[in-house]
Amino acid sequence: MPTEHFQRRVLVVDDEPIILQTMSAILEGEGFSVRVASDGFAALIALRDAEPDIIISDLRMPGMSGFEFLSIVRRRFPHIPVIAISGEYIMEKMPPGLLMDVFFQKGGYTPAELFLTIRNLIEESPIRPHPPKLDKAPLWIPRREAGYIVAACTECLRSFPVDDSSTDTELRTAECPSCSTTVKYMVDSAVLKMLEQRKNRLP
Ligand SMILES: [Zn+2]
Repeated sequence: MPTEHFQRRVLVVDDEPIILQTMSAILEGEGFSVRVASDGFAALIALRDAEPDIIISDLRMPGMSGFEFLSIVRRRFPHIPVIAISGEYIMEKMPPGLLMDVFFQKGGYTPAELFLTIRNLIEESPIRPHPPKLDKAPLWIPRREAGYIVAACTECLRSFPVDDSSTDTELRTAECPSCSTTVKYMVDSAVLKMLEQRKNRLP
């Protein structure tokens, strides 16, 4: 087992218990200290408790999606590097570094690649450009069934309705009507797709 001066802490967020178990086993076997959370809410509680050196998160989870969780992480903990792992999301339209530093397709990487990526990201983290990253982090808005979406201004915290005409996973901007702050946001396209399918099933 590799030894280090102090154990690097990894927070793993996934709704599937088997993935949490597997990840914990391989990361602990490599000498990392691992904490797990089964969704975004649990992960935020874990973050309040103790900050990890790195976060590994699934993107599709019930309750708070990985996108929502990571957009909060980027705004509140911009210094913590993030690896996202998912089988479903295609990241091509998302600007690199926005919500995650590295994206792994589920089943598309080896443990050795994961360990190397973790070590590289942790080494880089003290020299990460904090303020620009903080500025770039968008709101992540899951679209509910209400037929409209609401953004909360990152400055004055007031809510206001925003455009939801596009079904793409793309970064959009809106100006807060109360304080004129430009708010960047994204809408969960997976939720849109799910609604679309549900609509098609109606008689
Ligand atoms: Zn505002």
